[in-house]
Amino acid sequence: MIKSIYILFMTLGLAVSGCGLNDDSEIIIAIDTEFPGGNIKIDSIRGAEVYLRPDLRGNGTDWFYWYFAATSATNDSVKFIFNAPGCLGIRGPAVSLDGGLTWNWLTESEMRANEFSYLLEAGREIRFSMGMPYVEADFRRFIKPYATHPSVRLDTLCITPKGRVTERLTISPGTGRPGKHRILLTARHHACEMMTNYLLEGLVSAVLSDDPQMIALRNNSEFWIIPFMDKDGVEQGDQGKNRLPHDHNRDYSGESIYCSTAALRQQTPIWASRGLDFALDLHCPRLTGGKYEETIYMLGLEDPDIQRQQYAFLRQLIAAGTGPLRLDTDTSFLPFGVSWNTSENYSEGRNFSSWAASLPGTRMASTLEAPYATHKNITVTPQNLRLLGKDIASGLYRFLNIGEHTAR
Ligand SMILES: [Zn+2]
Repeated sequence: MIKSIYILFMTLGLAVSGCGLNDDSEIIIAIDTEFPGGNIKIDSIRGAEVYLRPDLRGNGTDWFYWYFAATSATNDSVKFIFNAPGCLGIRGPAVSLDGGLTWNWLTESEMRANEFSYLLEAGREIRFSMGMPYVEADFRRFIKPYATHPSVRLDTLCITPKGRVTERLTISPGTGRPGKHRILLTARHHACEMMTNYLLEGLVSAVLSDDPQMIALRNNSEFWIIPFMDKDGVEQGDQGKNRLPHDHNRDYSGESIYCSTAALRQQTPIWASRGLDFALDLHCPRLTGGKYEETIYMLGLEDPDIQRQQYAFLRQLIAAGTGPLRLDTDTSFLPFGVSWNTSENYSEGRNFSSWAASLPGTRMASTLEAPYATHKNITVTPQNLRLLGKDIASGLYRFLNIGEHTAR
């Protein structure tokens, strides 16, 4: 059963779902979402105009994640028009010519419309998304070269209700002795926020590199890295953000309803019995809207001691920065109580960073928001997000005073 292939019949001008092709009709375009991360709903088709919207799948609010493949039988310029607001970021859609392996924004110029056109070549599948999708296969491809690295271990945090593995990547000294510092990194509490995984790739590559500072960092540390907190949501192409009855990042109070959050809450206090030295949860903000959608920033926590440590880390990150995505002390921190960062925003349940900050002995916990498409007019790409990940690793080295430890 091909449940999500929609065929556009030029002669009939309407869309049908299923695999029953009409031989007499001229097929212009087939739209497919039957792959990891796929998501779209077709509303109607009028000529070469396709009207569509994200598939919310019972989400609690409107959201903007979508990802589909389009194949045309003929060379056609097709216009894709969204019937829901805010479905395209400032660089337009991302486009993949290789089945989702690599992505580029459609435009480098500023785009504020909610539609785009693309010249489809006959018989060639092109993938489109509001961001640059990153699913399990991408992570597996990334981590494979590190499989024999003595500091790397990949195991399972939990098995999801759909039977999928929630991966846990451990990076440790690799000498059989535990590292002194406990560092917990998470991404995809909200399934749609895929750009964070490119940042995570850069961070992991840096920590596992031969750079002397990075060797010292991993010799003194033990990392737990969870690349997909909502693994089912990522693979299914769910929105994830504002999932009902609450999403993964509101699942840290009461009894957790998701396996990944339950496992972290159960296992972390044992693993980090002397406290977490550093906990960072990676997010993307909304796709459009204003200053918090187009800048990288950290979210201040209510606990003033933790907030001071967040500032301290930010200062080290700024000092360590060498990549194109630079942070600063003015715009890269949203203190608790300012704008939307208030306790009202967390009324549905405690989030990761607040939970991590509450554990005995935690030094620093934070959320980092990394936009999908632009940071202060710089186009966000997988390449420069990886460099930001490298900068975060260097900032972490400085924040933990690793140089002091190794000099002694
Ligand atoms: Zn998020």
